Amino acid sequence: MRAYYKVVRCPKCGWLQVTSAEKATRCKRCGSTISLEASKPLAVAATAFEAREKLLALKAKLKKSGGSSMGDEGDMASLWEG
Ligand SMILES: [Zn+2]
Repeated sequence: MRAYYKVVRCPKCGWLQVTSAEKATRCKRCGSTISLEASKPLAVAATAFEAREKLLALKAKLKKSGGSSMGDEGDMASLWEG
């Protein structure tokens, strides 16, 4: 089985983090469970390094778009493809 690193966003607080979990992970900021089956990862990567790069890029993008980014799903979808 191939391991993937995924960039996921907490649905509760919007926190972005990298995980290699298959089904669920826990938000490091607010502690709520992020289901990887219910919500698509924002990005996937084959290595931890690549995952971190993508995470940082996503964070920078969210910052640029002005903090509150809850309505940004279209943007996220395009990132998911890349
Ligand atoms: Zn959270």
